[in-house]
Amino acid sequence: MSATGHISDIRATTVAVPLEAPIRHAHGAHWGRFVRTIVEVETDEGFLGVGEMGGGGESAEAAVAAMKGYLLGHDPANLEAMRWKIANPTAGLYNSRLQIHAALEFACLDILGKATGLRACDLIGGALRDSVPFASYLFYRYPNEETGTGGETTAEEMVAHARDLTERCGFRTHKLKGGVFPPDHDVRVMRALAEEFPEASLRLDPNGVWSVEQGIAVAREIEGLRNDYLEDPTWGMEGMARVREKISIPTSTNQIVVNFEQLATAIRLRAVDVVLLDTTFWGGLRQAYLAGKVCETFQVGVAVHSSGELGVQLATMLHLGASLPNLVFAADAHYHHLTDDVVEGGMFRYANGEIGVPEGPGLGVSLDRDKLGEYAELYQSLGGYPYDRDPGRPGWYSIAPNTRYATPEDRREEP
Ligand code: MG
Repeated sequence: MSATGHISDIRATTVAVPLEAPIRHAHGAHWGRFVRTIVEVETDEGFLGVGEMGGGGESAEAAVAAMKGYLLGHDPANLEAMRWKIANPTAGLYNSRLQIHAALEFACLDILGKATGLRACDLIGGALRDSVPFASYLFYRYPNEETGTGGETTAEEMVAHARDLTERCGFRTHKLKGGVFPPDHDVRVMRALAEEFPEASLRLDPNGVWSVEQGIAVAREIEGLRNDYLEDPTWGMEGMARVREKISIPTSTNQIVVNFEQLATAIRLRAVDVVLLDTTFWGGLRQAYLAGKVCETFQVGVAVHSSGELGVQLATMLHLGASLPNLVFAADAHYHHLTDDVVEGGMFRYANGEIGVPEGPGLGVSLDRDKLGEYAELYQSLGGYPYDRDPGRPGWYSIAPNTRYATPEDRREEP
């Protein structure tokens, strides 16, 4: 017996949604837009579920549609069977489908929720909070010439950016995406943020581009600040464990722990204090929640990671954040850097730095068909972009440890 009917169609639509300004990170940049793929799953009883995954284009759309060959006739309630059917980790050497699985799992949870009147968070154990706090997520940005926004590089400019976001959204936690400029520059910005926002907690994330010694040195420079944690100061389990051993600030990662095997190793090596759970990297809301339960057992901290979401994935992050008992840190979201969304009712709104958990059944979001069409067309006209290249520094690429940082003058170049 099925409450929802069986899967009768799977569709994918790649969209590009503009950012307020191009945002920079240690390995490149998001060139002024996010490219995401919206996934829809339909059942023969007329239920429709929605999911989302990163990146896109014809091959991504085709890879999602190809899952019809595996899942037509599948009962959306059989989530564990779906995982083994399309994302068996031991069979996935040549075809890792974790992201596709995540998007389909979101859609199936959405369908199950709609069929039962339960929210996605209720299907994985129930909400412990009604809203989830978020960090500001401050990026060094290239200017958007059309709107005059962006262009932050100096400590003063970053503080002004943080002040603007705080006024708009009420953030009480500030996260700096570092590693673009030399470590001393990030230290200056962190100190300026601490001075401007003495009550706020702080975090710094250079995406693993520092050496072990640089990570230790930066941690010592900022150890007097109200740090939540230092995120991925260096790369790899061994490097992270060595930094952690030598510093007083907790460390976190979304890079060295993105599956259960890595989680086991990280716990055994005591490589990290806090694991940032991503609903797509881990292969679904359910997988991320289960990882949170493992962390709870070992008293490893958790927070919710952001990989650059539109409203569908943001909803999964809210359901995850609502249901994790051990969520003591604000979640991350790139969301407020977007100018629009593809969900009905427009963009989610922040109040006091938090976003309310959607109240409707399933994920609690539905697609705005006009917006979906508009941003699918935008993708068709603009295409994708290389996330690991920097439009302001043609020919540049990152190495680790990075010895080829940007200079503050780079920001004056056209993206
Ligand atoms: Mg990170």
